[in-house]
Amino acid sequence: MRLSCIKLVFMGIIRKTKSVAAVLQIFEEQEDAQSVVHLIELLKDEMNRTTVYRILDRFEKDGIIHSFNGKDGLRWYAKCHGCDSNHHVDAHPHFQCTECDKVECLSLEIEIPQVKNHKIDSTDILLMGQCEACRH
Ligand SMILES: [Zn+2]
Ligand SMILES: [Zn+2]
Ligand SMILES: [Zn+2]
Repeated sequence: MRLSCIKLVFMGIIRKTKSVAAVLQIFEEQEDAQSVVHLIELLKDEMNRTTVYRILDRFEKDGIIHSFNGKDGLRWYAKCHGCDSNHHVDAHPHFQCTECDKVECLSLEIEIPQVKNHKIDSTDILLMGQCEACRH
């Protein structure tokens, strides 16, 4: 489902439609991941941080965005591709640049190891180094 279609679906569910649209717009315009601190800063004139958290949580549950931990345990969010409600198919690693702090989703397949007597639900792999721009 495209993001613009999802927008319509959400209008009925979340009452604060303007806030929802504002958060959604950020992810429509940006392919790069966004940290929660940055999102709160971007949206501070339009809504409080509780609302930002609530919308992000909702979007994550509905397969619009996924979250992961970056450097220093900071939470990052990025657009999903091909996920739906309660079923995320994007088990990919993430990359964080140690110089400019840019975070990217890496479209690499990673094999989740089978662990005896354990059920693995998710994975959170963060690779760090210098991004393309910082290397040159
Ligand atoms: Zn996803
Ligand atoms: Zn960089
Ligand atoms: Zn990602």
